[in-house]
Amino acid sequence: MKTILVAGGAGYIGSHMVALLIEKGYDVVVVDDLCTGHWQAVKGGAKLRVGDVKDRGFLDRVFSEFSIDGVINFAAFSLVGESVTAPLKYYDNNVGGAVSMLTAMKNHGVDKIVFSSTAATYGEPEKQPIEETDRTDPTNPYGASKLAIEGLLKWSDAAYGIKYAALRYFNAAGANTDVDIGEDHSPETHLIPIVLQCALGKRDHVGIYGDDYPTADGTCVRDYIHVRDLANAHLLALEYLDKGGQSGSFNLGSGDGFSVKEIIETARKVTGKAIPAVTEPRRAGDPSILIASNHKAGEVLGWKPERGLEEIITDAWNWHQGHPNGYGQ
Ligand code: UDP
Repeated sequence: MKTILVAGGAGYIGSHMVALLIEKGYDVVVVDDLCTGHWQAVKGGAKLRVGDVKDRGFLDRVFSEFSIDGVINFAAFSLVGESVTAPLKYYDNNVGGAVSMLTAMKNHGVDKIVFSSTAATYGEPEKQPIEETDRTDPTNPYGASKLAIEGLLKWSDAAYGIKYAALRYFNAAGANTDVDIGEDHSPETHLIPIVLQCALGKRDHVGIYGDDYPTADGTCVRDYIHVRDLANAHLLALEYLDKGGQSGSFNLGSGDGFSVKEIIETARKVTGKAIPAVTEPRRAGDPSILIASNHKAGEVLGWKPERGLEEIITDAWNWHQGHPNGYGQ
């Protein structure tokens, strides 16, 4: 395996993947339409081809230009709230993009794909920590679109021999300050960047979405995982498939849960800033607790998260301080 195609490689997690692949000596081709990604995030000599993965002619040209050995697909829309009001947009983009990518892979004889899936495939969990064999019953179109693609991957393996690893992310956060890339969404909806924007004085407070959940302090508990640990898992998954490993779905989380209040408290400690917080109504569709069992990724892929919450917030803080307006400045 020498040349890896990273779809959505200009986005938050994708750009961290590109940086890791370059560091490990791979040739990297990025396809991204830059609708949410940033060309500035594509570092280290990766080749960027700007276009939409749903455009089959475009993908065909990229697969003809380069001799691709494996694909990592991050290209997707990922806002849960937006997906509820625009399900057609989410199915069209996410499922349509995956159909187009698998078609190009089949036509060009590429047989390995690592795919971004999500903890949102589980919906309201049956138990904690969540295992891959637990019920999948998404509570929003975003999660449903990803679960539909997991089904498509399974059938594409059976029919065309395309091997896959579907990686179900919990809460990605952090940054890679070595190559100066980080999280820049517009609008920003994620807790850690919002908290850090408060620390920077760009917002006057963070809203806590509900403090009456059945958790120790009443706020939602999530499993935060460093984006660099996530990138490592993708590389291990690709190498596993290359060695003939069986297709499957894998949780990527730390196995630890932190409440919204604990995140804000840790950010106060890391930044030394007050970070005012105000309790607001619950956000629709938020399960009270989401914590991963990461045993399968550990046993099968040999993956172990290496960075804890303080390091996640410290790295994110360092990046946000250097880029108070994201990549825009
Ligand atoms: N959250 C919050 N205030 C915010 C943003 C998020 O209280 O301004 C909460 C949200 O309800 C959830 C947790 O923080 O319980 C993580 O939310 P995020 O949007 O970062 O990730 P998600 O869990 O939705 O993937």
